[in-house]
Amino acid sequence: MTGSILRGADRNQDLELDTDVVVVGSGAGGAVVAAELAEAGQRVVVLEEGRHVPPEKYAQYRPSESLRHLFRDASLSFALGVGDTPMINVMMGRCVGGSSVLTGGVCFRVPGPVLRDWRDRRGLTELSPEALEPCFEAVEKAIHVEEVPVAMRSRSTALFAEGCNRRGHPLKPIRRNTDGCEGCSRCNFGCPKGAKKSVDLNYLPRAVKAGALIVSDSLVERITTRGGRAAGVTGRLLNGPEGRPRDRVTVHARRVVVAAGAYHSPLLLLESGVGKQSRQVGRNLTLHPGFRVMGRFDEEVRGWHGALQSAFSDAYEAQRFTLVSLFVPPGVFAATLPGIGPAHVARASQLPQLAIFGGIVHDEGGGTVRRAPAGREPFVTYRMSKRDKETVPRLLRTMADLWFAAGAQEVVLPVLGMNPIGPDELGRVNLDRIPGARLECSSQHPLGSCRMGTSPQDSVVDADGQAWDLPELYVADGSVLPSSLGVNPQLTVMAMATRIAWKMRERPLPS
Ligand SMILES: Cc1cc2nc3c(=O)[nH]c(=O)nc-3n(C[C@H](O)[C@H](O)[C@H](O)COP(=O)(O)OP(=O)(O)OC[C@H]3O[C@@H](n4cnc5c(N)ncnc54)[C@H](O)[C@@H]3O)c2cc1C
Repeated sequence: MTGSILRGADRNQDLELDTDVVVVGSGAGGAVVAAELAEAGQRVVVLEEGRHVPPEKYAQYRPSESLRHLFRDASLSFALGVGDTPMINVMMGRCVGGSSVLTGGVCFRVPGPVLRDWRDRRGLTELSPEALEPCFEAVEKAIHVEEVPVAMRSRSTALFAEGCNRRGHPLKPIRRNTDGCEGCSRCNFGCPKGAKKSVDLNYLPRAVKAGALIVSDSLVERITTRGGRAAGVTGRLLNGPEGRPRDRVTVHARRVVVAAGAYHSPLLLLESGVGKQSRQVGRNLTLHPGFRVMGRFDEEVRGWHGALQSAFSDAYEAQRFTLVSLFVPPGVFAATLPGIGPAHVARASQLPQLAIFGGIVHDEGGGTVRRAPAGREPFVTYRMSKRDKETVPRLLRTMADLWFAAGAQEVVLPVLGMNPIGPDELGRVNLDRIPGARLECSSQHPLGSCRMGTSPQDSVVDADGQAWDLPELYVADGSVLPSSLGVNPQLTVMAMATRIAWKMRERPLPS
């Protein structure tokens, strides 16, 4: 049996389909569920709002094209900081393959203490290490998870590692879903070599091979119900002028899986009137607020040579932050540097001497997804907890200190309006008093807005991913994670989606 990928944008009439399972969203969560169910012999239709860009095409994209065609809102989605919380730039994919196409490939299993917290504090005893082991194993095999050798580290990462060694906390190697990576540092714009094994290269082709139909340019607007259970979805094909919604898409299904990501899954549930009673839908969003700190060296660093992400430090987990290596293509990097006109040119001419490292806060949550007052877009607010706010200056100070320990001449902190600082200035800068509005903060990890739990009072789905409020509606993406992880989430999102798919396979489809 072979399915296919249908481009919704190329169609010029309504589309009506009948299937066993409809999956909304083709990213990390949706792709896994689609493959697992199609391979079990179920008829699967995947509806994806974004376009279908084959890997050989995005391989040729310049970053500005990737931003337009693979990212949501050209990467300019935000969570509005409430109180003294910074505005947080939240990046997401919007294409066949979802955010998986844009990752740095970093793969972590859910950390043990997080899993214990889910069991002890949230009562999720089903999510034991033993229960999740086969799920992680299946995903790691499917997406080819491997350790990044030290030889592939960029000079940027090697320098940061020297700082870490001098402070007694050596970096650890990262694992990534790659095969044949040549280290060109542009993973976040779509791998040009097909070496990053995103879901468009494995799970989605597997689903199609097993008979699934993937419809791109297909915006789902509502979950439909019949007899008190989920019975399909309706929406629009984005086949109007400039990709605007025009013709209808209707899918009748015996089971519905929502995997539209932590911004859009809750929105779809809210639009469909699901989860109103407990008022949990859209709440508890976590983001892993992230900060980039740069060091300027006398030597040439040329950090774009080598693996984009290759090493990390969990030495600061007790302080609630993790350090992860990263880099960006030089053109994009230049746009993030301080200075205007000649001052910016002078700064940008130092690009070869600049090194970067990233830090993410293991946050407690504080985000809420609602529908924007006008239109159908999510309106997201985020209020950092007191503890998370206190973590930020600690993270920045630690990273600056590590760069100086590595021999940096200057450090550029992600504080708008602040000039780069020298080694003897670090002690004098009062980072505790920087207003949130001046912090440059980004997130690639929205999670938790339809969280899993043991009671409809404080969660949206049960331990098997089924919505408390509506039988035969499942959620299987980053939004179901019961809390933030403190590490990059794609592998956990995919392992959880595997478990949910396997649970679905055990339950007969309703007639
Ligand atoms: C730039 C970037 C770098 C990242 N790097 C890493 C990394 O190195 N390691 C890591 O672990 N994680 C990384 N992540 C995070 C990781 O990609 C996500 O955690 C993961 O993909 C989440 O999976 P998901 O299924 O929840 O959502 P997504 O993968 O985002 O998929 C959701 C899909 O649903 C579609 N959709 C939304 N609404 C609708 C609708 N109404 N109708 C139809 N379709 C809809 C979207 O277009 C999208 O394709 C990164 C993310 C980004 C953006």
